[in-house]
Amino acid sequence: MTQLTLTVLGCSSSSGTPLIGCDCPTCTSNDPKNRRTRCSAHIQIGEQHWQIDTGTDFYHQALQHRLPRIDGILYTHPHADHLNGIDDLRAFCYKQQAAIPIYGHHDTLANICSRFDYAFLEQNRHWNRPVLRAHELPLNQGQNSVLNINNVPVWQFGVPHGSWITSAFRIGNIAWFTDLNHIEESIFPHLQGLDYLFLDCLMDTPYPSHLSTEQAFAYAKRINAKQTYFIHMTHAQEYHTLKQRCPQNCAPAYDGLTVHSSY
Ligand SMILES: [Zn+2]
Ligand SMILES: [Zn+2]
Ligand SMILES: [Zn+2]
Repeated sequence: MTQLTLTVLGCSSSSGTPLIGCDCPTCTSNDPKNRRTRCSAHIQIGEQHWQIDTGTDFYHQALQHRLPRIDGILYTHPHADHLNGIDDLRAFCYKQQAAIPIYGHHDTLANICSRFDYAFLEQNRHWNRPVLRAHELPLNQGQNSVLNINNVPVWQFGVPHGSWITSAFRIGNIAWFTDLNHIEESIFPHLQGLDYLFLDCLMDTPYPSHLSTEQAFAYAKRINAKQTYFIHMTHAQEYHTLKQRCPQNCAPAYDGLTVHSSY
């Protein structure tokens, strides 16, 4: 049995909450649950430390949560709010004196490797840039897991995110579904028995590349994890207002939320 601990480092949409220059009730709230950094998670799997995405706020998240090391990264997709903290991985490469493996589907890795080509060179004695190694994970493997971390299987599902395909991950009995606007029928059988589902819930207004509140509620009810937490929320999602509207066993996530599971 391997213990899993997932910490939500950030649960905001791409702009962050508060939104720059906004005076709405969420953005002017003093409640820490209404202050959200860009969307990512840190997962301890046994003694290993893994990261889902390294967004714009990664530097501050790593300090805030005193992340001790990073053994690997699962990238959902290469949008800036999920990727652009990549340069701060160099501190971990230096501390660990090693390259860090990154995982994702082909198009995501190709995009990262072309935009941050210097991060895939051999290290030099200064460790003055991140040193990463890309490992492609196949999409559409159905019930087959694509990776094993400390005896915990990882499944990768392709979900549409506007014109991009995002990787949604199931790690043991925890699933992280961010930046998607639809879940294909064939995926639902692989989402049974979840302890925790983290699910995109952008805002009430329908949006072409994300789930609206209504769509997120419907998927959460259908997947029926023991507990669902909503992520990737804009400032239009005031924490307490959304919480009151949530179906059973569902709630908005907040930065710093930590859950435990085992597999
Ligand atoms: Zn995003
Ligand atoms: Zn606002
Ligand atoms: Zn995105």
